[in-house]
Amino acid sequence: MAGILAAIRLRQAGEDFTVFEKAGRLGGTWRENRYPGLTCDVPAHAYTYSFEPYAEWDAYYAKGGEIQTYFEKTAEKYGIMPHVRFDSEVVSTVWDEGAGVWRLRLITGEEVEAEVVIAASGVLHHPKLPDIEGLDSFEGQAFHSARWQDDALVDGARVGVVGNGSTGVQIVTALSKRASKLVHFQRSPQWIMPVPYFQYSEEEKEAFRRDPALIEDIRNNKEYWDSIFRFTHAITDTHGPEIAAIEQICLDNLENSIRDPELKEKLRPNYRAACKRLIYSWSYYDAVQSPNVEVERNRIARVEAKGVRMEDGRLHELDTLVLATGFHADRFIRPTTVLGRGGVSLDDVWSVRPTAYYAVTIPGFPNFFMLNGPTGPVGNFSLIDIAEKQWAYVDQLIDLLRSGEARTIEPSADAHADYEERRIAAARTTIFGSGCNSWYLDATGVPASWPWSYEAFADAMAAPVLTDYRVEAAAELVER
Ligand code: NAP
Repeated sequence: MAGILAAIRLRQAGEDFTVFEKAGRLGGTWRENRYPGLTCDVPAHAYTYSFEPYAEWDAYYAKGGEIQTYFEKTAEKYGIMPHVRFDSEVVSTVWDEGAGVWRLRLITGEEVEAEVVIAASGVLHHPKLPDIEGLDSFEGQAFHSARWQDDALVDGARVGVVGNGSTGVQIVTALSKRASKLVHFQRSPQWIMPVPYFQYSEEEKEAFRRDPALIEDIRNNKEYWDSIFRFTHAITDTHGPEIAAIEQICLDNLENSIRDPELKEKLRPNYRAACKRLIYSWSYYDAVQSPNVEVERNRIARVEAKGVRMEDGRLHELDTLVLATGFHADRFIRPTTVLGRGGVSLDDVWSVRPTAYYAVTIPGFPNFFMLNGPTGPVGNFSLIDIAEKQWAYVDQLIDLLRSGEARTIEPSADAHADYEERRIAAARTTIFGSGCNSWYLDATGVPASWPWSYEAFADAMAAPVLTDYRVEAAAELVER
């Protein structure tokens, strides 16, 4: 998504650029994830590029396959495809001080030179398998949610799903109508926010095609934006009215939807709402009340040949085990080796936690820009919008290179240290740091995200503070 965006903007600016794609197809997360029930929980019309509205969404929330089609159509329409080199994983990118360029090495062994590198390699990309004993001994098929097996036994079969993040909840909801027995293994219960869901009729789609302003009205819907603002304020004001309102809506949802008191208690979270990513669902609570579905809250002891053994000794016999256990969210461009000035490795710079100045640039790594990089906003809103705002910021930095005013540009170490100090202090006080485990936390337990409001992010991205940057002119290094 972010790479296609950068490509569109670079092509519009008449730049000479190449997109290196490790796979044989574009689409990122929407190419990788193909599990049953895959849906984006950002309203479909808000989950498009601002400049490319789409009349074809089937429903208020889009299915994964539709989103994949949208990105591929958009890449085609904007003339990106001839610029994409498929099956071209970048193994390393090394800054050549003398020449002032990055030298990229591809998996094919080929070397390529670039004045600017844009790392748009995604966040939730490297599957995290659970450390459950005996996984290899399972006689059925066991696989990660992002590696969905088309031949998996699901229909009329006994299926276990480990994990109840957004992915596990969507899979269980979809499989509840297909499996003969479905066990949802939940280590921690989740807050479930009820949301509306409806199909767009052919007449409505036709109206969108004729008049894209109708789509714009949906994108600008005041209620939607108010909810985004409320949500980001709730993240930062953990004792404020907004988070209390979110918790109340979710608790009412639990109270009013789940009939069996025992199941209700199993599903009741014991930490603050939005500490983990809030789950948006219109049908999960119906799914778990189907007679073929069991919510399992006891601890897993191990996986055995026939199924999953619980610590209390019970065995859930299964044909298929789906591991919806999340991603290594701290990888970003890695495992690509990135060596900046003086051969310093990004891996070493990130030994404690991945960081980037305002989530976009890194001291010592000139002309290197990240989209959806570390410490950017996370939450229940469109990452396309976030990437577009980041691009607007990056574009202004690239402009300095384009105009010849600069040969290299990178943030100063002091500016970055100051940003990180303020960010970490603020992040600890956000709802993400209120005492739960989630992929939002770095290895030291600090939330690895933007800790201020959406408006503060939009302001920061509107214009880089150039005095925080080291700009190297053709001959000399200038502190601005
Ligand atoms: P996740 O939110 O990281 O959830 C992983 C789940 O696996 C958690 O329930 C976790 O339990 C459980 N788990 C991990 N290791 C385990 C173990 N050893 N034993 C038992 N349980 C274990 O991953 P995800 O659901 O794939 O979602 C990741 C993110 O992808 C989401 O937060 C969201 O940003 C994005 N996503 C978005 C959508 C969308 O609709 N837009 C859909 C899917 C995903 P604990 O909670 O106890 O750690």
